[in-house]
Amino acid sequence: MIIKSDPARITDNFHCLGPAQVPSFLLDGRHPVMFEAGIYLFGPHYHDEARRVLGERRPEHLLLTHVHFDHCGAAGYLKRMIPEMRIGASREGSEIIKKQSAIDLITKLNRYGDRDAPSFEPFVVDVVLEDGDKIEVSPGLDVLAIRTPGHTRDMTTYYVPALKLMIPSESVGVPGADGYIMSEFLTDYDIYLNSMRRLSGYEVEILILAHGVYYTGEDARLYIPRAIDATERFREWVERLLDKHHGDQEAVMLEIKKEEYDKHEGEKQPEPAYLLNLRAKIAAVRKRLESSPGRE
Ligand SMILES: [Zn+2]
Repeated sequence: MIIKSDPARITDNFHCLGPAQVPSFLLDGRHPVMFEAGIYLFGPHYHDEARRVLGERRPEHLLLTHVHFDHCGAAGYLKRMIPEMRIGASREGSEIIKKQSAIDLITKLNRYGDRDAPSFEPFVVDVVLEDGDKIEVSPGLDVLAIRTPGHTRDMTTYYVPALKLMIPSESVGVPGADGYIMSEFLTDYDIYLNSMRRLSGYEVEILILAHGVYYTGEDARLYIPRAIDATERFREWVERLLDKHHGDQEAVMLEIKKEEYDKHEGEKQPEPAYLLNLRAKIAAVRKRLESSPGRE
């Protein structure tokens, strides 16, 4: 299912805020929680729409899945608007976001090519979330943090057992409108796959994916196994092409881009971002082959 309205109510107490392609989310309750902070430009949208739901109440936490520019872009802005709100992320995320090089990159990407655009307010992580940590939203309504590295080192998935609702962000790839699942193992293939296998052990009825798509019911239950399968097939494809092109990564990249990106219709990520990610994934497959040449 594709989220169309802004803001969209997904359940009685769970809302998508801002544009669906780069959303933030709100779980309402006695201690409301926001998830994801999208891009800087949409900070006021996330904030206004949260206020529309909450009135005079305020979110008490903003939980980040990872500190990529389009998932933490408005975190500093939201913290300035709601100073009492605590930002939660993994230990790795809390360290990365202190680095000037990370701040510079996130700032640059949030400008979208406009050098004069106001862009990104640095922030600190107030609450370091370890695997298994829980945040109470209301009695009987908790958010569980599950560490799921592989897309990035700092990735955290959030799971709400009472709703069987999961927010894995890019831990489980990104589905296109045509159903094709883009694999997203930017740091390590096996770690990424292990994280997905772990997530497939949770009961999921509502699966909130990274950029404008969510699934319910059977679609939600079947998605993670499908994403695991897509990841294995993508890795095999890269291996075949590395073999065909005698290890020439650039040639492999061009061939994959032609099939996967150029032919794909509709909304897609900007080409430089796609190529950057593709290069990282090919490198991850190659690293894996080199570390264990005989593996199947
Ligand atoms: Zn990401």
